[in-house]
Amino acid sequence: MAQTASPPPSTLGKPRLIKGGLYVIEAPLSGAEGPNIAIYVTSEGVVLVDDHFDQDYEQAIARVKSVTDQPIRYVVKTHNHGNNTGEYRKLLPLVDGLTSTRSREHMVRMKMAAPPAITYSGAASLFLGGKEIRLLQAGKSHTDGDTVVLFPDERAVYVGDLMAATDRVTNPSVDYASGGSLRDWPRTLDKVLALDIDTVIPGTGFGVTDRTALTAHRDKVEKVGRRVGQLVKAGKSKDDVNQALVSEFSFKPVNLHGLEGMIAEMKN
Ligand SMILES: [Zn+2]
Repeated sequence: MAQTASPPPSTLGKPRLIKGGLYVIEAPLSGAEGPNIAIYVTSEGVVLVDDHFDQDYEQAIARVKSVTDQPIRYVVKTHNHGNNTGEYRKLLPLVDGLTSTRSREHMVRMKMAAPPAITYSGAASLFLGGKEIRLLQAGKSHTDGDTVVLFPDERAVYVGDLMAATDRVTNPSVDYASGGSLRDWPRTLDKVLALDIDTVIPGTGFGVTDRTALTAHRDKVEKVGRRVGQLVKAGKSKDDVNQALVSEFSFKPVNLHGLEGMIAEMKN
């Protein structure tokens, strides 16, 4: 979600074992307090994906300690929104932060705290304790820098805000200022669906799920794009489009932030 201001500290849930060394702390389904946090435990340390707001970091660390004695080695930040970019530098020098080069550029532009020291473009892998953790940029969607994190041994993928929801109702939330694209989004998700996975960890507002739910979300994003295009080409006003998205797709305020951008993008 596109939050930059930090809300007061929240209470993080308990990590839930998904499979192998993969645990997830699921965020409340309202979606506002996200993200879901992935904790990947290996025999040589822990990789954390999306570590929440600054003020929650002590809690996040305590939650990791509750499932393993292994130290946190890496924090992957999927993109440049405040709820996905907690202050990992409090953990330095023992922890390295990773994100895509593009997301780091956005973090610097937005003057966000602690842009990660290590970046990549396209794809990168971490090898830790005999496990691979693969980072992929699948294309434009929520932003133009989102990382999806594949855990090949667990056939699981953390998709971040490529799939985000409010109370389990998924919808696209496009950050045009960060290069997001409604038009490209379904194609981007096709690349994720082409991976050998059966478990999907969404960004927020939706618990750990599967390919079927991700496919349904992909189809919904495509439908939203088609509908916006239809309305714009029929000469409908911004208010009409707003109303249609709320009544037909249950759009929430967080999804409507990108309304003007969606109208401009789907005009052609
Ligand atoms: Zn976001």
